[in-house]
Amino acid sequence: MSSDAYVFTPPEQASLAVQGSDARFPVRRIFCVGRNYAAHAIEMGKDPTREAPFFFTKPADAALDTPCTIPYPPLTENLHFEIELIIAIGKGGADIAEADVMDHVWGASVGIDLTRRDLQNEAKIAGRPWDWGKAFDNSAPIAPIVPIADVPSVETARIWLAVNGDIKQDADLAELIWSVREHVSILSQAVTLAPGDIIMTGTPAGVGAIVAGDVVTGGVDGIGTLEVTIGPRA
Ligand code: MN
Repeated sequence: MSSDAYVFTPPEQASLAVQGSDARFPVRRIFCVGRNYAAHAIEMGKDPTREAPFFFTKPADAALDTPCTIPYPPLTENLHFEIELIIAIGKGGADIAEADVMDHVWGASVGIDLTRRDLQNEAKIAGRPWDWGKAFDNSAPIAPIVPIADVPSVETARIWLAVNGDIKQDADLAELIWSVREHVSILSQAVTLAPGDIIMTGTPAGVGAIVAGDVVTGGVDGIGTLEVTIGPRA
């Protein structure tokens, strides 16, 4: 389009680094799976049985490369970490069969679903949307995306998170209530997936609060690691 096609210069395309490449992964949307590990469902006071998965979203530009420093976000006194396997979609589609899901996956990574837990809990009680608890600026720090050919497994691998070196979350992808094949297939029944869509696949047990000055590290074995430092409130 010509330079006068928009009333002002469009914002830069949201994107994430790619392992082993200077080219970046353009982010279209970020979908997040709600409860997807039984032990986390229990710690959140919920039934761990296999109810249908539910989803929420974050804006594309909440994604940011790691390592990074994030200012402690506004409005909260209870910022929580949630380490999650990241799935990056490279080929769109609707009603994708479980057997075909991996043909649509461009890569995988590890990220943190940062959560303003106090605002999320208020929203739950009031029957309001989760957005202010989940979809705030800088709420999705993500390690470089690894091309799927270089990913050993999205079905079994250790997933872990530490705060200042102390392990807080330590689980295995095999504990996912809804596997990648299953939840991506289910998501594609609700929306037509598109290249650039990111899926945050849910967090295991052990979530907790972080404060300014904390250094959060985490990873999924065979896929990657990340480091996020929490800065002072902006
Ligand atoms: Mn989460």
